[in-house]
Amino acid sequence: MGAATFDGDLLIVDAHEDLAWNALTFGREYMRPAAETRALEAGSPTPQRNGNTLLGYPEWIRGHVAVVFATLFAMPERWKTGAWEPAYTTPAEARPMYSAQLDHYHHWVEGNPEHLRLIAGLADLEQVLATWQPAHAGTPMVGLLPLMEGAEAIGDPAEVEAWAARGVRAIGPAWASNAYCGGTAEPGDLTDLGRRLLQAMESLGLILDLSHMDEAATLTALDLYTGVVMASHSNARRLVPEHPKPNRHLTDETIARLAERDAVIGIVPYNPFLRGDWTPAMGKQAVSIERVLDQIDHVCQVAGDATHVGLGSDFDGGPGLEKVPAEIDTIADLQLLRGGLAERGFSPAEVRGIFGGNWLRLLQRALR
Ligand SMILES: [Zn+2]
Repeated sequence: MGAATFDGDLLIVDAHEDLAWNALTFGREYMRPAAETRALEAGSPTPQRNGNTLLGYPEWIRGHVAVVFATLFAMPERWKTGAWEPAYTTPAEARPMYSAQLDHYHHWVEGNPEHLRLIAGLADLEQVLATWQPAHAGTPMVGLLPLMEGAEAIGDPAEVEAWAARGVRAIGPAWASNAYCGGTAEPGDLTDLGRRLLQAMESLGLILDLSHMDEAATLTALDLYTGVVMASHSNARRLVPEHPKPNRHLTDETIARLAERDAVIGIVPYNPFLRGDWTPAMGKQAVSIERVLDQIDHVCQVAGDATHVGLGSDFDGGPGLEKVPAEIDTIADLQLLRGGLAERGFSPAEVRGIFGGNWLRLLQRALR
C-alpha cells in the first residue's frame, strides 16, 4: 500500500456498495485484500450465500476507486432468501439494523483514519480527493458516503433529521414497496407519507436515490423533489426486456427525465441486469463487459450526452464474483471499461466523467 502513482485522471466513484451489510452479516473486513477474504471464507457458507467477494481496500486503491456510496440496508422479511439472513417486518425492527450499520461505518473509519473517511460535507470530499494527487505522500483514502437504501428504518419523516445528523447524505425511499412508495416487483405511487418524507429530505439537502422505486413513484418524485436526485444503481430497461422484475430498471422516459434534472445513473455490472435471461448455471463467461458498455452507451444516447451516467456496482450486494461479467475478478477491473469506452468513441473527458467526474459534479451540488 505505497503512495499512489496514479495521474489523478481516472478516479472511479462507485455509487453503491453494501459494505456494512456484508460486515455485519458475514463478518467481512474490507481492509483485507479480496483474495485474503476469499481464502478465509473458503469452505464456509458465505460464498454460497453471497458469492465470493469482489471488494477490498487494496482493490479500491488499485482500481482508483476514491469514493464509495456506502449503504445501510436490511432485508424485508418477505423477501429474505434464507434463514441466515437478518430481516425485519416493521420499522421498529428495521431501525436497529440500519443504526448498527451506520455505527459500523463510524467505527470502521475511526479504526482506519489514514485509509478511510466518511464524507459528511464538501471539505471531506476535497480531502479524500487530495490524497489521490501525485504530490500526496501517504496512502490514498477511500471516502464513504452513507446512503440509506430503503427507508423502513424511518418510521416517521420527522426522524430524517436525526439520521442526517449521524451522517446519512442520501436516501432511497424504497427497496421493495413500503409505507412511502412502490418498489422493486411491488408497484405503487408515492404515498402521502412518502411526500412528507421527501419534504423532510429536501429541507435537509439530502440526495434522493430513485433506484428501486417503482416508476410511478419515481415520476411523481421527480415532479415534487427540488433537491438533487440520482439513481445510484440502475440499468436501462430497454436493454433487459426479458428480466423478471422489469420495474427494477429505468425506462427511457425516466432516463430522459433524470438527465433533465442533471441526475446521474449508476450502471450495475450484474449479469442478470445486463442479460435478462442470464442464470447462474450459464456461468459468468456468458456475459462480457461489452454489455456494461452497451448500458452506458444507451443512457448517453437517451440523455443526449455523457454527463448523466456513472457506475453503481452494487458489488457484494447483488453481485459476487460468480455473477459479474467474465472479465471482472475484483472491483479494480472496472478500469477495463476505459479501453472499451475509447473504442466506442467516447472522448477522454467523457470517460473521466463516466468513471467519476459525473458523480463528483453531483456531490459538489449536493454537499455543503
Ligand atoms: Zn439495491
